Amino acid sequence: MERPARRHKAADNLNRWGEATDEPAREDARPTKRKMKYLDEYRDAEPARQLAQEIHRVTTGPWNIMEVCGGQTHAIVKFGIDELLPKFITLIHGPGCPVCVTPLEMIDKALEIAARPGIIFTSFGDMLRVPGSTTDLLSVKASGGDVRIVYSPLDAMKLAQENPNKEVVFFGVGFETTAPATAMAIYQAAHRGLKNFSMLISHVLVPPAMEALLSSPNCNVQGFLAAGHVCTVMGYEEYFPIAAKYHVPIVVTGFEPLDILQGVLMVVQQLESGRAEVENQYVRSVCREGNQPAQELIHKVFKVVPRKWRGVGEIPQSGLGLNDAYAAFDAEKKFGLADRHVDEPAECLSGLVLQGQIKPHECPMFGTRCTPEHPLGATMVSSEGACAAYYLYRRHMPAETGKTA
Ligand code: SF4
Repeated sequence: MERPARRHKAADNLNRWGEATDEPAREDARPTKRKMKYLDEYRDAEPARQLAQEIHRVTTGPWNIMEVCGGQTHAIVKFGIDELLPKFITLIHGPGCPVCVTPLEMIDKALEIAARPGIIFTSFGDMLRVPGSTTDLLSVKASGGDVRIVYSPLDAMKLAQENPNKEVVFFGVGFETTAPATAMAIYQAAHRGLKNFSMLISHVLVPPAMEALLSSPNCNVQGFLAAGHVCTVMGYEEYFPIAAKYHVPIVVTGFEPLDILQGVLMVVQQLESGRAEVENQYVRSVCREGNQPAQELIHKVFKVVPRKWRGVGEIPQSGLGLNDAYAAFDAEKKFGLADRHVDEPAECLSGLVLQGQIKPHECPMFGTRCTPEHPLGATMVSSEGACAAYYLYRRHMPAETGKTA
């Protein structure tokens, strides 16, 4: 069992879970001062029932709420959180799965590098089965490519130190959450003068994607559960202009069932009272300004660039690319990979899934031609993908089932 970290040392206020917080006390959100110590306490049935009852009590209208992060989607589907809610609250699954939104072109570039002789291609494990245009990294490995799973970009950098006669490449994929570790590996590699280390970077940023969704004429999202781990790094200052511009409540939310239920309650309370504010449910991890040393490192190594999102298209200012000072570590430049355009396979509707326009089981391929063993799209491969969540926990659910459709 993990013990949650405490960020606030001396606040008198306690939130619902008895955690110290600098946020103003919310009488309606703190029926107990019992301190939560262990992770499984955030899965207790009785407080979950109380929260669900409170959501039922305050809800009068139909509301569409998007959980941004794929980790939240998995918790919702795994624990049946959506089934506890009033039937006219719809949880829309968002684009917050970094593996899923990595564009096909970037996967193809990874495959091209990994297949070259003299390369050690390193990646987090969940990228290995993501299909490119013709194959995937696992197949390249099976054909003799030196593709290795690492648990940290620093492990990849260490491999480069240990193998001076090889080129070591790390596939840098992820949101703001993993960007500090990627930045640290680049920073350390530069400090050590490593010449045989580079990164294929496909980092993406959450707030521009939320804005892109809200700007779409098809958008029916009325409130957001923002991703708690992203805000642990970045804080939540960035969300105030979005909440004000689009008049949409944004609640920074954690990943356990009680976190998500409380996040939904806080969004619904705002919607019902006509407010559109930024609030923080995940106080045991997130503070308003975030982790400033991590942000400084990100800004030192990266610059903000336009980035294509798989199934969504290019979103301005939605990605991180290496600053000019670290351009020597850019694998795209090092290996002369030209820009390319690859069409998504027409039969995979993951773009619509990632934009919350359909649920995974509404894709005709779901559970038939597309399974985790034979995935057609990244949303069926990734441990945070919505299609994988539905396959794992709801594959026998008929498509016409009302509550989760
Ligand atoms: S079920 Fe498979 S084919 Fe359909 S959207 Fe999901 S990943 Fe794509």
